Amino acid sequence: MNRRRVLVSLVPAALVPAWPLCAFAAPFMPRAAAVPGGVARVKLGKSEQPPVVHLGGERVLVLREGAEWVALVGLSLAAKPGTKVRIDVEHASGGVTRMTIGIGGKEYASQHLNVPQGQVDLSAVDMARYERERIHMREVLRTFSADAPASTAMLQPTPGTRSSSFGLRRYFNGQPRNPHTGMDIAAPVGTPVVAADTGKVIDTGEYFFSGNQIIVDHGQGLLTLYAHLSEIGVAQDEVVNAGAPIGKVGATGRVTGPHLHFSVYLNTVPVDPALFLTA
Ligand code: ZN
Repeated sequence: MNRRRVLVSLVPAALVPAWPLCAFAAPFMPRAAAVPGGVARVKLGKSEQPPVVHLGGERVLVLREGAEWVALVGLSLAAKPGTKVRIDVEHASGGVTRMTIGIGGKEYASQHLNVPQGQVDLSAVDMARYERERIHMREVLRTFSADAPASTAMLQPTPGTRSSSFGLRRYFNGQPRNPHTGMDIAAPVGTPVVAADTGKVIDTGEYFFSGNQIIVDHGQGLLTLYAHLSEIGVAQDEVVNAGAPIGKVGATGRVTGPHLHFSVYLNTVPVDPALFLTA
C-alpha cells in the first residue's frame, strides 16, 4: 500500500478531489491494452472542462492526466480483433469529434466441461428468476455518477490464489457459454473481503448464479462486483473506503467451491481486473 492510497482512505469521500491536484504526482492508470476485455487509453487534449465521451450510447470515464484529459474506455470481450470501435467526444467548447480505437488480438483460454444435461438446463422457474435478475443487473451496471474515481488503483479484495482467469471461454457439453467476466480468487469460507477501491455500494442481493453479491460504484462508470459471498457486511448507499471490510468469502450461488468472484466494469462492460491491481 503506497502513501497516496493511505491518504485517500483517511480523507472523507466528500473532500477527495475529482483528480489529483499535485501536477508532479502522475495518477495510477490501469495497464491499457486495446484488446477484447481490455481498457483503451485515449488522449483527448487540453481544455478547462472535461469532454463528454460516449461509446455506443454509454458514458465513458474521463480523467485528468497532467494538463490533458484522457478517456479510459472499457472494451467488450465480444469485440472482434481487427475491427474498430468508435467513440464520440463532445467538447466543452461545442463540437463533436469521432475517434476510433483499433481492436487488437487477445487469446483467452478455453475450458470444456461435460456435465449431466440436467445441471445445465434451468427449470422454467429458475429461468424466469434469472431473466428478472439479468434485467435488474443491466440497469445497475449502467450507473454513471458524475465524480471521477479518487483512484483507479485497486487492492486485491481478498488474499488467495487466482484460480481461473478473466475471459476464459467455457463450453458445457460442447455448447458455448458466456466468457468468464471476472477473476476468481480461491479462499476459505469466511475470509474477509474488502472494497478494492473507495466508492458507494449501489446494489446488494442474493442472485441465482452469483449468490450473495455486492456492487460498488467508484465513479464515472467504474464499478466493482463481489460474488458468492457467505456474508454481506454493507448496506445499499453505504460509502466504503478502499480496504474497508464489506463481506466474507463464500460458496453461494452456482459454484463448485468457495471463492470470491471479482469483476471490474467500465462503461457497462467487464474488463480484466488484473489491469487495475497494484500489487
Ligand atoms: Zn468467477
